[in-house]
Amino acid sequence: MKKKICLLPGDGIGPEIIAEAVRVLETVGQKFGHEFLFTEALIGGIAIDIKGTPLPQETIDDCKAADAVFLGAVGGPKWDHLDNASRPEKGLLGIRKALGLFANLRPATLFPELAGACLLRPDIAARGLDLIVIRELTGDVYFGEPRGIETQDGKRIGFNNMIYHEDEIRRIARIAFETARKRRRKVCSVEKSNVLDVSRLWKDIVIEEHAAYRDDIELSHMYVDNAAMQLVRDPSQFDVILTGNIFGDILSDEASVITGSLGMLPSASLGASAPGLFEPIHGSAPDIAGQGKANPLATILSAAMMLRLAFDMTKEADLIENAVRKTLQEGYRTGDIMEPGMMLAGTQKMTDRVIKHLD
Ligand code: NAD
Repeated sequence: MKKKICLLPGDGIGPEIIAEAVRVLETVGQKFGHEFLFTEALIGGIAIDIKGTPLPQETIDDCKAADAVFLGAVGGPKWDHLDNASRPEKGLLGIRKALGLFANLRPATLFPELAGACLLRPDIAARGLDLIVIRELTGDVYFGEPRGIETQDGKRIGFNNMIYHEDEIRRIARIAFETARKRRRKVCSVEKSNVLDVSRLWKDIVIEEHAAYRDDIELSHMYVDNAAMQLVRDPSQFDVILTGNIFGDILSDEASVITGSLGMLPSASLGASAPGLFEPIHGSAPDIAGQGKANPLATILSAAMMLRLAFDMTKEADLIENAVRKTLQEGYRTGDIMEPGMMLAGTQKMTDRVIKHLD
């Protein structure tokens, strides 16, 4: 199979970790007879330095011409003085918008080898944590109109509008049900329908969409405040969490942080048609950039997600995920996940071990 991948290395550790994940992809490509054609484009701070904007038009064009987009990270102290409209992060929001990416998929997995890093009590961690948060990305209170700050009777009021069109709910619900089919077949839809009208609609539409999946997918509903509690009380109960933009923003961060390993977690953002965007959830880690210390595993696992979701290459994705697990089982750790008795490895060494286990 021939696939075009647009690389957006970005800033900080971005270029280092993308280079390592590309080595893994090339090895997998050779093994399975696939040809991955890589192009590289500018985004974030580096794009500001070279082109004067965090998202040059050429980058959008290159991404749209690809089968998938593979991003490192953007941002850093060098650009912190810029105003919000011209900061590196604007490039990220811009590319999501330009590609129409409405679904954000964030797995939170606790590797048994890293259970010591988990922020939960050992007896809770022992039950396991292997869930995915599917967050709607382009609607909700973040984008609803009207919005603003106005003065009424001499006092200022601020307001936003939490709004969902039923079509927006249907398409994200379908992504959740389809994702569940490839996992443990359970979807929990999270909303606040005891208080919010928009959530009542959300729940109704999710139930309607479930009709086509009733035979094999279990659907449950949970209020967001309860979901936030259940994530720390017993995350093992969740398989797929389906939710809107603002609730998903908060819950996906909560689910990630309890694993204790930021450098291990991948993500995907998908639209109605290709290309999707795949990236680690962590930032550009400017404190360790250029030192060969970055953990490449979140990016390597993002590459596995890309193979699975964008190219339907299940065996290839499984192989990468197993190789990551074997590397951890062997006892290799980068600094961020280091524990006593383990072997400290840098970015390249860690990738070398993963590549070794692809055999
Ligand atoms: P960060 O994720 O970059 O770093 C937080 C801490 O985790 C740091 O100590 C860092 O060294 C460590 N860390 C992160 N990834 C690591 C890895 N792969 N291996 C080893 N250690 C790792 O978050 P931050 O410090 O809040 O932000 C730094 C910059 O990144 C900021 O400019 C921020 O805006 C940007 N950022 C970008 C993205 C993105 O591109 N998607 C996401 C979050 C933050």
